[in-house]
Amino acid sequence: MPRRNPARVRRNAPPHTRPADRRQAVPGLSGRTVAEIARLERRPSWPGPVHEAWRRWHALAHRPGPWVMYAVDEVCPCCDPFAGAEVRAVLEAACRALPPRAARELRAVLAPLDARFLTRTLPDPSAPPDTPWWAARLDSA
Ligand SMILES: [Zn+2]
Repeated sequence: MPRRNPARVRRNAPPHTRPADRRQAVPGLSGRTVAEIARLERRPSWPGPVHEAWRRWHALAHRPGPWVMYAVDEVCPCCDPFAGAEVRAVLEAACRALPPRAARELRAVLAPLDARFLTRTLPDPSAPPDTPWWAARLDSA
């Protein structure tokens, strides 16, 4: 039985539904940390690719438009690998699950995005006190 030609498989895969490329790494991380993240992602219970979570968190922090924005992660539900989980929660879970050195590297990459997100969004005064900081932001008027 001949294997399918990989180029043909790629050509036929609609880019919109292509799963996140597992080889993609978050910029700024050492090879060792990238390997630790790959190990995390092999856990059956792991919610989704850390690179994709980082990509969306980055896109949200850098969203074009007015500087002050509502904290809405615009995602197509049909191809959301996190099944609606907040991407910052996935990144936080990674920071907590990684060994200390790798966690420090990931937190250092996230820090400027977190800062930008916080300065571009407004606190939600009605958020319950146990709400994580990234969710305790206004997401509508
Ligand atoms: Zn979709």
